[in-house]
Amino acid sequence: LEYDLVSWLHDVVDRFEMLTRDRNMTLVRDFIQMPLQVNIDSDKMTQVLDNIISNALKFSPEGGTITVGADLTGEKALVYIEDEGQGIPKKDEHKIFERFYRLDKARARSLGGTGLGLAIAKELVEAHGGSIWASGASGQGTRITLSLPYNSYPEVGESSD
Ligand code: ATP
Ligand code: MG
Repeated sequence: LEYDLVSWLHDVVDRFEMLTRDRNMTLVRDFIQMPLQVNIDSDKMTQVLDNIISNALKFSPEGGTITVGADLTGEKALVYIEDEGQGIPKKDEHKIFERFYRLDKARARSLGGTGLGLAIAKELVEAHGGSIWASGASGQGTRITLSLPYNSYPEVGESSD
């Protein structure tokens, strides 16, 4: 179904407000101000965002900031989730999308989780014609970005009336 990306993201992020407040964390929304129609399976993409935002919470200290952003490149809509946690070493940035991969086995055990979240996210995003990647230097937090195709929108001033 077709959704306005920014309204859809507001709904997804709304559900994390209480959880972040309980951990003294700040949830920032950095959304592009324009209508952007995307064709998505809402349940599946919600599962993707839930995992990434949950990871940001799980691997960040109390009191940090998590930013969810929406932006646009020439041909894709971009959604990113940025945290101020311990980050992911450059050499492991692609491995976190492998099944069952967890950076710190001991820490992962105490935090729970199977290491499947991002592998599933990658599958679902790619099934939508998009891609997903991690960036950000180790120790300076993590940014997970996903791209999605968007439907064309009417240019300003270009009207068919
Ligand atoms: P699951 O999602 O199945 O409950 P999980 O969260 O451990 O378990 P993934 O979501 O696939 O699994 O993430 C894989 C691993 O990547 C994590 O165990 C963690 O080591 C690392 N990782 C993911 N997101 C972050 C992040 N925001 N900051 C630091 N490390 C991360
Ligand atoms: Mg996870």
